[in-house]
Amino acid sequence: MSSTTSNSTDHHDAIVIGAGVIGCGVAAALAKRGIRPLVIDRLPDAGYGSTSSSSAIIRFGYSTEAGVAMAWEGQLWWRNWAEVIAPAEPDAIAEFVNVPMLILDFEGGYLPRVLPNLDRLGVPYERLDRDELLARHPFLDLHRFGPPATIDDDAFWRDPDTLLRGAVSTPDSGFISDPMLSAQNLADSARAHGAEFMFNTEIVGVESSDGRVSGVRLADGSVVSAPIVVNVAGPHSSQVNEMAGVGASMSVTTRPLRREVFIVPAADDIDFDRTGVMVGDEDTGVYFRPESGNNVLIGSTEPECDELEWVDDPDDYRTTLTEDEHQLLVLRCARRIPSLGVPQRKRGLVDLYDVSSDWIPVYDRSDLPGFYMAVGSSGNQFKNAPIAGYCMAELIEGVESGRDHDSDPIVVIGPRSGLPIDMSTFSRNRDVSAASTMTVLG
Ligand SMILES: Cc1cc2nc3c(=O)[nH]c(=O)nc-3n(C[C@H](O)[C@H](O)[C@H](O)COP(=O)(O)OP(=O)(O)OC[C@H]3O[C@@H](n4cnc5c(N)ncnc54)[C@H](O)[C@@H]3O)c2cc1C
Repeated sequence: MSSTTSNSTDHHDAIVIGAGVIGCGVAAALAKRGIRPLVIDRLPDAGYGSTSSSSAIIRFGYSTEAGVAMAWEGQLWWRNWAEVIAPAEPDAIAEFVNVPMLILDFEGGYLPRVLPNLDRLGVPYERLDRDELLARHPFLDLHRFGPPATIDDDAFWRDPDTLLRGAVSTPDSGFISDPMLSAQNLADSARAHGAEFMFNTEIVGVESSDGRVSGVRLADGSVVSAPIVVNVAGPHSSQVNEMAGVGASMSVTTRPLRREVFIVPAADDIDFDRTGVMVGDEDTGVYFRPESGNNVLIGSTEPECDELEWVDDPDDYRTTLTEDEHQLLVLRCARRIPSLGVPQRKRGLVDLYDVSSDWIPVYDRSDLPGFYMAVGSSGNQFKNAPIAGYCMAELIEGVESGRDHDSDPIVVIGPRSGLPIDMSTFSRNRDVSAASTMTVLG
């Protein structure tokens, strides 16, 4: 892809801080409406931040109705990607790989939190009893292993004596095989509509004048002006909110969390690429999906027994995989897929989530007029990037035209699904959601 740098002028219609998949989605949506943004990123190209590490799972099982509506709408964008990024025609475009997602059915699981939302919005799903589950995915062990425990706890090794009730499968789920490429596709689309990009450039301050945002200050001391600034800085979001002086007044805050994801070969006699499935398995404490080359990609669902590694400085954290987490996640996954072995060599990645107080994102204005935020993506908003960009553009246009979004919340109608997305769900001043799983499942 081409790597455009910024132009000659230091004034723009808007500045987007961060060229991750969500930042590029915001930039493309603004540019399509004739609000031509400058996207500034400290890294060398689009999608090099936490987006590059995303498991990029596209599923619909969220605890809020707006979350489900957004995810369902988002899926329709991923399935029509060439159309979404037009008129850009890059050499390579992100591919949606269709794989069903299972939500396991057991006492205390998160199914009851999400099923009413799927019903209300008409998101298709199938109920699978144990026989059907095994017929489709014979490599799964259907015992109940939870609640999850650490390996040094005897409870981890206890022989299970009860079974799952079954599962709900959403057949339209899937994943994007190259998340960084998808950000670059959106960046190309944004450029085609008039956006500009400035890479290798760090923002160190947010400027304001007469009670309104007026631009950003760069590390070299120069200032770039714009009447609109959008914080899409991923795990650096709270730092950027502090620069704008808006963090303290919000009831929902964000902070970085270190995460490890592992890639482990499936057993030789399983064709996981073809017959694999995706599962958010709260009963064992992992999520997993197929990864090309007959592998299983494994991440954590943050069970209560695990200590979470919150990070104070997103530029200073351990970037190497740990043996403890490798053993833990692979052994947990091996309870559900007993044929899985723990390989001697660790393969995977380490990166940061930008976690909000209730693991639900913040897509909102701020108390500083002109300063907006798409933050707190909590390890679960890759799937929503293009529609989140669209929602942010609707919100920004509405607020800039005088709408008081705080007292009269904007409801976006998904252009492909027709579903309503109530943006007050993602307010910076919401009550922390009681329905949330308080994990990556959202
Ligand atoms: C391991 C992992 C697995 C995940 N799995 C899934 C999944 O399966 N499904 C799902 O839906 N979501 C998933 N997510 C979440 C999803 O990937 C993220 O929500 C999404 O990629 C965030 O995009 P972003 O554009 O907000 O942030 P980023 O991609 O992090 O981009 C932010 C950008 O801002 C730039 N920046 C920050 N501060 C500054 C500054 N001061 N000056 C200039 N530039 C700055 C950074 O350089 C960076 O490029 C996962 C995330 C991780 C880390």
